Amino acid sequence: MNFTILVNKENPLLEDYVPDDLQRIGSFCSESDKMLVKEACINFEIMCADALKDNMNIKAISAYRSYDYQKKLYEYYIKTRGLKYASKCSAKPGYSEHQTGLAVDVMGENGDYNLFGKTKEFKWMMKNSYKYGFILRYPSDKEKITGYKYEPWHYRYVGKKLAATLFLENITLEEYYLRD
Ligand SMILES: [Zn+2]
Repeated sequence: MNFTILVNKENPLLEDYVPDDLQRIGSFCSESDKMLVKEACINFEIMCADALKDNMNIKAISAYRSYDYQKKLYEYYIKTRGLKYASKCSAKPGYSEHQTGLAVDVMGENGDYNLFGKTKEFKWMMKNSYKYGFILRYPSDKEKITGYKYEPWHYRYVGKKLAATLFLENITLEEYYLRD
């Protein structure tokens, strides 16, 4: 499993791509039946356990999503909100990071992921998530680079080493690949 894989609007996954070592996230930090790739899952659980020690309640509300699930989700957004909204706020099937099993959407104690950016849990994540290998994937000042609007709830596991690089240099995964 390549933890540094780049999936975005230019770099899709194959329709039949399914990570081979998905693991269910512990119920103390997840809604039921959410899965991540094993190494991402273990580090997510450790991160949430450490956050709990600081009275931060972080919960996964979406993690691995199959191609078919993403297809249904995208079609739902087009139907209810229109193509323009769908393409800015959701990913076409095959183009979602969630299909890698390395991306996770979270919420804090207020129970609303849309408002996660205003929570104390978000502040904690901004300070600490890279130590566990997770980065904020779609920052507010990088919308033109990532192609996605700001998503304070969406985190991506890239491994601890790369996460530290991206965090310290304040760059996105796209900028990291452009640089190489
Ligand atoms: Zn997400």
